[in-house]
Amino acid sequence: MGVSQPGSVNALPLIEAKRDGKVLSEREIHSIVGAFTRHEIPDYQVAALLMAILFRGLDATETRALTVALRDSGQRLAFPSDPRPLVDKHSTGGVGDKVSLVLAPLLACLGFRVPMISGRGLGITGGTLDKLESISGYTTALSVPRIIEQVQEIGCVICGQTEDMVPADKVLYALRDVTGTVPSIPLITASILSKKLAESLNCLLLDVKFGAAAFMQSDAQGRELATSMVRLANECGVKTRALLTDMNVPLGRAAGNLLEVREAVECLEGRGPDDLERLVVESAAHLLMLAGKAQKLESARSVAMEMLRSRKPLAKWEQMLAAQGVDIDSYHKQVTHQFALTIVEVRADRDGCVRNCDARVIGEVVRDLGGGRMQKNSPINPLVGVDQIVKPGERVTRGSALCRVHGALASDADIAATRVRLAFTVGDSASSHVDLVTNVIV
Ligand code: URA
Repeated sequence: MGVSQPGSVNALPLIEAKRDGKVLSEREIHSIVGAFTRHEIPDYQVAALLMAILFRGLDATETRALTVALRDSGQRLAFPSDPRPLVDKHSTGGVGDKVSLVLAPLLACLGFRVPMISGRGLGITGGTLDKLESISGYTTALSVPRIIEQVQEIGCVICGQTEDMVPADKVLYALRDVTGTVPSIPLITASILSKKLAESLNCLLLDVKFGAAAFMQSDAQGRELATSMVRLANECGVKTRALLTDMNVPLGRAAGNLLEVREAVECLEGRGPDDLERLVVESAAHLLMLAGKAQKLESARSVAMEMLRSRKPLAKWEQMLAAQGVDIDSYHKQVTHQFALTIVEVRADRDGCVRNCDARVIGEVVRDLGGGRMQKNSPINPLVGVDQIVKPGERVTRGSALCRVHGALASDADIAATRVRLAFTVGDSASSHVDLVTNVIV
């Protein structure tokens, strides 16, 4: 079947080669990425190539070629030279993960520049941009010059990818999303790293989540993805480490956009919750080590914790909100007073100890309440979600609250409350302790 336009790359031999398990050359990968970015190859051929890659894989050299070709498909951030290292953290996504909101201002206060280009939520995993856009006035669409100016001026920005950055990944990701070709380690590696490499970073920390509510269900899969990304990012000149973190249980006690902003602000005020604070401090400490600003992890943790407790990052957070369009007086009112119309408590039906709180169930309920999206452009309701979640190891009594459900309608909240009850397992004793950070890949 002749499908390519005259003068463009003929995709068919490359699809056949990958289908048959052959290795594609760097030149072939660069030419096909160029061609599909210019829309010279029909979607069905790109989809066929993706499916061949999903089954046959890419070796380390092919993955590197794909990553570099995606990175170079658009504009890269070019910062003026400055003693402050350029750093970022990327999480593979989970439920209740609001680390970026606290970490970006903390890192800026620790003497880093943080060009944090983030994404939206899809399915059950929340997106940093959706969380920030629940704050009235917050703009996530900034131009490249504006991103650079803000990072130079206040040390951090959290915004979306511009039109001109990594356009090839946009084409590829949209197709992967609808062709069942997301869960491929080389494709995920290339997609994530191409965007991070376009930020021109000195150091990168990856938070690779595994478990019920993560892309990678097992610790072993998480480790494979983390190893692939750490190796390639270091080869590309960005000092990189990965934390492998548990995503069987939500992070913190809240899931849902504005509810998570509220919890992030509590963390910036030094009011926990413990697991969120731990992951923020751990992430900052590893970046201090990577950048050579600390020699020992223990002292790096103390430096990060002390800075968090100083409340300077809280002031930096508000400076970032103001720079991105937020009226700070209105924001204070919004964070204190704005709630969904209905709040329902979910109660324990026995005395005991919480043994599990299934992050997947919580994520699905928040999405179905309107807090997440099934399709890329669906609108979301920033106010809905679940908060005051009782975590594994904590005791409850019959009738005491396990969590609260925030819904737009009483009927939605009631249905959600029935489903959320099933996320919790309450037993006579605590289940064995699972550490939040199970491994560091360097
Ligand atoms: N996030 C990305 O940006 N790309 C992937 O492939 C998976 C998660």
